[in-house]
Amino acid sequence: MTKTSLYLIILSLAAVLSAATGRAIIDECAVCRIQRLDHRKKAIAAQSRYKEQVYSFCSDSCKAQFDNNPEFFIEPAIPRTAPEFTLTTLEGNLDSLANYRGRVLLIDFWASWCAPCVKTMKDLEAIYKEFRADSLMIIGITLDSIGNQQTVNHIERNKITYPILFDNRTSPTWLAYQVKSIPSLYLVSREGQIVRQWRGASKKSEIEDAVRLQLTGSVKGQN
Ligand SMILES: [Zn+2]
Repeated sequence: MTKTSLYLIILSLAAVLSAATGRAIIDECAVCRIQRLDHRKKAIAAQSRYKEQVYSFCSDSCKAQFDNNPEFFIEPAIPRTAPEFTLTTLEGNLDSLANYRGRVLLIDFWASWCAPCVKTMKDLEAIYKEFRADSLMIIGITLDSIGNQQTVNHIERNKITYPILFDNRTSPTWLAYQVKSIPSLYLVSREGQIVRQWRGASKKSEIEDAVRLQLTGSVKGQN
């Protein structure tokens, strides 16, 4: 191979690469999205390929974080089987996922120190009132420690009536559900499959539509 032909190959490779990276100028950083930092409208500074998928980052440091632990930054695939759990309720009883088999279930992960969790809980309480007669169940799994008075105060202050469970410290349910930040919400089908998941502040109407679809098979609720 001559020096010139080698040079041409390098040049054409560079052209292909710049065309590939030049297409997506603005995107959502795959790390900032999870860490809920406001880097959404920034130029792509770096990219990584993981499991046949290309992820874009706002900075080299975000790329380094991703490369260090990609699974942390990608949404787990749905549908998937909802992991079983047996946890202590606010009243001190035991409750399990198995108790809700055959019902559509929303599981909300929250903590009393999490300010954005309050809005989600108020929305969920409204959704619970709206759909409980149609056999929707909602449970809130708190990361607070068992018997925490803050938890009780929080529930009373926000008039939450759906069951609250304390997560297990030694084998955390949040870990099994791959919770990355709270609030995190999971919609479980009658067959025990996670069919939708939301992280952070979610639109109430979007949750309602997903619940209605599971309950009736219709988004608008026409029977
Ligand atoms: Zn970033």
